[in-house]
Amino acid sequence: MPKIFHIITYGCQMNQYDSSALREYLEIRGHKWTDDVQSADFIVVNTCAVREHAQNRALGRIKGLVSAKRKNPALEIGIMGCVAQELGEKLFEKIPELDFVIGTDQIPVIAQIADGTIARGIFVQTRQNFYGVESNAHINSGRVSSFVTIMRGCDNFCSYCIVPYVRGRERSLPPDRIIAEIENAVANGVREITLLGQNVNSYDYGGLDFPELLEMVANIDNLARIRFVTNHPKDFSEKLLDIVEKYPDKIPPAFHLPIQSGSDNVLHAMNRKYTSEQYFDIVDSIYKKFPDAAISTDIITGFPGESEADFDATISAMKRVRFSGTFSFRYSVRQGTAASKLLDNVPNDVKIERLNRVISTGLEIAEEYSQNLIGTVQNVLVEGKSRKNPGKLRATAPSGRTVLIDENSANIGDIVTVKITDAKIWILWGEYP
Ligand code: SF4
Repeated sequence: MPKIFHIITYGCQMNQYDSSALREYLEIRGHKWTDDVQSADFIVVNTCAVREHAQNRALGRIKGLVSAKRKNPALEIGIMGCVAQELGEKLFEKIPELDFVIGTDQIPVIAQIADGTIARGIFVQTRQNFYGVESNAHINSGRVSSFVTIMRGCDNFCSYCIVPYVRGRERSLPPDRIIAEIENAVANGVREITLLGQNVNSYDYGGLDFPELLEMVANIDNLARIRFVTNHPKDFSEKLLDIVEKYPDKIPPAFHLPIQSGSDNVLHAMNRKYTSEQYFDIVDSIYKKFPDAAISTDIITGFPGESEADFDATISAMKRVRFSGTFSFRYSVRQGTAASKLLDNVPNDVKIERLNRVISTGLEIAEEYSQNLIGTVQNVLVEGKSRKNPGKLRATAPSGRTVLIDENSANIGDIVTVKITDAKIWILWGEYP
């Protein structure tokens, strides 16, 4: 009997992509999506284990859902994603009412449970040959941007990170499958694709590297824009910059390039495999080719052993690079990682105080980045109506900044040229020049 299902997603773009693909995978098997979690009889929670906070939030939500199950025993509730992979059986001990626990390589099993062809239970075996469910990413009608996964897993073992343990070893998807998925998305009206991988720069399919794949994608007709995340500084190449330069209308010079720390001591302890000088060399080569490039980053404060001098190096790095955006986090131990064996010796209040300094420095620099765009002419992709600003359309600049333009001045999916007239930290206003 078809299920009425809902998926709740926590975490990164990879999880959003998996949830979206799972939705289509279930729909093509006859199950029916509902936006309303209360009316679903089959609920899947896709979880993130990167930070303890995200994990606790997801588990809290599941506990809330489980109370509804007491009133409606037919309701099936399962958990998928990194927390499912990491905790496995322990989840049944924590939440006995759960029906299924599905690891990162076992997503197709969810359809079999929904179909009733296999029993409920726990499925967390890793499968190195798992490349995602065989479906094209779900395309909501009217959607302009979509994600496409080009690789799964990670081989880098940054010492603080759980991802290599829960998502397995790095696997690059075949280019023909990636191209077919993007062509299908474009045929359904998608104009912008974001290529996803934990480290897109190490994409390697039978010798085909990431810049070569990017060039193949850039040659897809009617695809207006291509973005890609995440870049790892240790694998970032000049060859990639050459391809970005070759397709200026399609590939904006916007690079998410996590630095994590400006201190070589901390970078070494994090097992990041680059020094701050090597990072700055990459930044210099980006700005040399693209003076207006948007370089965004991730920073962790309070990593074990981080001294005040180490932290000062991080603030100096932020000021030197002038990041267009900074995503910052306070270090928290993830059990099972190499860093969990280090003495977590930065007091919590110091971690928070440093985090606040990173946030305020990041906002100051981001605002300056946006202010510098006033008076420039930008090609922006119209994504839809602005919910918060009646009468305005929401578009995206090459940098990724949101640009508000007058409604009725363009159609959704158009790329239009506007002059930036005003700016706040994350939002720009544009008018026809
Ligand atoms: S590159 Fe490092 S931080 Fe990113 S997923 Fe892999 S191990 Fe985690």
